[in-house]
Formats: sequence, structure tokens, C-alpha cells
Amino acid sequence: MNAKAMETLTKENESAKAQKLDGARVAAEIKREAAEDAARLKRDYNLTPRLAAVRVGGDPASAVYVQNKVRACEELGLGSEHISLPAETTTQELHAVVDSLNRREEVDGILVQLPLPKGVDEFKIIEAIDPAKDVDGFHPVNIGRMMLRQPALLPCTPAGIVELLVREGVEIAGARVCVVGRSNIVGRPVAELLLQRDATVTICHSRTRHIAEVTREADILVVAVGRAGFIRAEHVKPGATVIDVGMNKLTDETEVKDFFGDNAGKRLNALSARGFTLVGDVHPAQVGSVAGRLTPVPGGVGLLTVAMLMRNTVNAARMRRGLLRW
Ligand code: NAP
Repeated sequence: MNAKAMETLTKENESAKAQKLDGARVAAEIKREAAEDAARLKRDYNLTPRLAAVRVGGDPASAVYVQNKVRACEELGLGSEHISLPAETTTQELHAVVDSLNRREEVDGILVQLPLPKGVDEFKIIEAIDPAKDVDGFHPVNIGRMMLRQPALLPCTPAGIVELLVREGVEIAGARVCVVGRSNIVGRPVAELLLQRDATVTICHSRTRHIAEVTREADILVVAVGRAGFIRAEHVKPGATVIDVGMNKLTDETEVKDFFGDNAGKRLNALSARGFTLVGDVHPAQVGSVAGRLTPVPGGVGLLTVAMLMRNTVNAARMRRGLLRW
């Protein structure tokens, strides 16, 4: 977009500020429902759904993600265990751990935290998980069932995005949706789930030409790229709903000021306390003045991912016992 068009766009939206799409509220609602379902299973069948989370190596981000998932289980009254394996673990050794979890009757959900260390065959490990216990929804059987619109354990982040849109009253049917990113865990499945809800879906990726022309057509823009602030004002149709999946660390003070403008205070404090602040793939100051609705980072999609994992764990426990259609 040229400078003049950009100026017009900014002026048109000078007083506008995107409404926050409240991931925290929706995540709390989904977790409450999962806790109620778990309490019913306990009351009627003396059953406590149980999640086993496996982590390989010492990546601090992975450790935090797994801790959050285990903590959510405790909060909701689900059983959980955290298996931490050394970075040198081989594909065969990890396969054996997954096999033993597959065989344990009391384990309902198995999660292997990604990414795995280099040298471990990620696909082989995902394929080794019993599809009925695959609460991340990454197993080819679950992906296949999802594509065929059969009951399945759905991937948590994409399914969480759909829940957020539905529960916040964003109309999906008939909307033009653009998904930026085509990963197996976010971009492709979220595009499919939104298509199943009758959106007209376009997927962009690193080879898309003139990407802003495509993204600016979207009523709903979902961004999962992994590059801080990649989506800027010129990528967004005024009034669009923007879902920011990205989680990136910003470590530079000038960048933090650029991202948050007058609201940078808290972020700068985080930067000096921890050395980074967490941001998405969407430039918050720029897009915040063009979009109609926007998910915050943190406090948006990330919370929904954990909430959907809790729901999947409870549903896996029900499906395995014939209490829910599979
Ligand atoms: P990924 O596997 O690295 O995929 C990134 C996608 O972005 C690829 O499809 C890539 O295109 C596309 N891309 C890269 N550069 C681009 C460019 N210049 N223009 C257009 N497209 C471009 O990432 P992912 O696993 O989907 O994750 C994306 C982000 O979401 C990351 O920040 C991740 O941390 C975050 N995430 C958050 C959650 C959550 O719970 N909030 C969950 C999962 C992921 P090509 O296919 O052409 O290479």
C-alpha cells in the first residue's frame, strides 16, 4: 500500500480501537464445562480422566507449557503426570514410553510436548500414540477423521479458535476467512474447521504473492506465522476480526515501544524484569486501530489451547468407554 492510502486508512480509523476478543473468558468457560463433565464421570462411574504429559530435553519454554497443562488438570480435578526425559532420549526409547502409556488403562490422554530434540522422529512418535488417547489431535487418524467430518479428537489450538469465534458471536458462515500459515498443527486444521463452518477460506504462506492484497479481503484473519508483528495495518480490512496465534519473544526496547506505543509501560517493565515480553504475529498498535476485534497476546489463543486440551482429555475418557460417540 502506498503512503497516501496508508494515511487515509489510518485517518479513517483514527478514533477506532479494536475490541478485545476475550480468550480468558472463553477459556475459563470451557474449563468450567470440562470440570463439570469430569465431576459427572467421577460421580456416575468413579472415573477420573488422566493426562500423561511427556517432555524430552530441557527447553525452558516446553517446561512452562507442560507445567501449565499439568496445573490446569489439577485445577479441574483431572489426574495428571509429567514424565521428563533426558535430551539424549532416542526415538526408540520415546516410542517405548508412549507404548507403555498406551497400555495403561487409567491413562486417558497422552501428550508429547513438541518440538522434540533434533534426531527424534516426531512423526513416528505422534503415530505411536493410541489415536483414542491422542489429546493433542495430531495423530493421522484424528486428522483424517476431522477431514472426513467424523467425530475425532480435534487439534487444540484450531478448535479453540473456532470456540472463541463462536462464543464471542463472530459470524463464520459466509465470512471470508484468510489463514496466514499452513502448518499441520495450526494453519491447515483451522482452515479446515472454518471451512466446515461454511466460511470461504483462503490460505497464505511464504510463497504467496502480494499477501496484503489477499489478507485485506478477509472478514476474519487468522495469523500463525511465528514472526513478531508480521501483520500490520495494511494487511487488515477495517473492522475485520483478527486472531493472533503467534507467540514470540521481543527483547528490544525500541521494538517494544513501536509495538505498544503509549501503552508500552507494562511491557517495558516486563522487559527489564525478564529480558523479554511475549508478542504475537500481529502488530498490536497498528492493527489495533484498524481491526474491529483482536485477540491479545498473551491472554488470547494460548489460554484456549490449554482449555481445549482439558476438554479433549475428558472427551477421550468418555470415548474410550463408549460414553461419547467416536
Ligand atoms: P510453523 O510450523 O513454523 O509455520 C509457519 C507458517 O508461516 C508456515 O506455513 C510458513 O509458510 C508461514 N510463513 C512463514 N513466513 C511467511 C511469510 N513471510 N509470509 C507468509 N507466510 C509465512 O509455525 P506454527 O507451528 O504454525 O506456529 C505459528 C506461530 O503460532 C508461532 O509463533 C507459534 O509459537 C505459535 N503457536 C501458538 C500456539 C498457541 O497455543 N497460542 C499454538 C501453536 C503455535 P511455508 O509453509 O511456506 O513455510
